[in-house]
Amino acid sequence: MPTPANSTVVTKYGHFPYAEISRDRLIVVASYGRKEYQRYVEMEREAGLALFRLINAARDEGLWIIPISGFRTVDYQAQLFNRQVQKQGSEAAAARISAPPGYSEHHTGLAIDLGDGFAAGEGIPDITERFGQTRAYQWLQKNAKDYGFELSFPQNNPQGVMYEPWHWRYVGSEYARQVFAAARRGPVG
Ligand SMILES: [Zn+2]
Repeated sequence: MPTPANSTVVTKYGHFPYAEISRDRLIVVASYGRKEYQRYVEMEREAGLALFRLINAARDEGLWIIPISGFRTVDYQAQLFNRQVQKQGSEAAAARISAPPGYSEHHTGLAIDLGDGFAAGEGIPDITERFGQTRAYQWLQKNAKDYGFELSFPQNNPQGVMYEPWHWRYVGSEYARQVFAAARRGPVG
């Protein structure tokens, strides 16, 4: 359920809590196929359809935008987060890089990690800050809003989360705007 606009939301290391969307509201938007990371990428239906329009428009301009990670369960996010805690040494340090389980925008089905399909050939790995230097990113910065998408964690974001040029959230529907209302207002205090 979206959070009422006037309620106080308790963040964890700067991340807002999100409920897992019901699976029957998801559609498959892509398959991602790099080595051991092969999987289907799923999004909430309306967000997914908007993503198709975005990808097609970018393609018309010679760009190749690929969906890398969409919906995630709380259980899967726990695995990702625990791996970061091992790597970084503490939950607080891990939370700059990865949201704790129950606090990821990916639970909503409205967030999507994007890559530049040409980047691998240029030696740029997916999900790195260098995505911010790609043509795909430049196009997104200019055009994503026309399809209802915005960058969740720009440089120096008020949530204190690391800059994530690859991570976009859909705010093009009333439902989506309600889900992200608290995050868009920014943390309180
Ligand atoms: Zn993400």
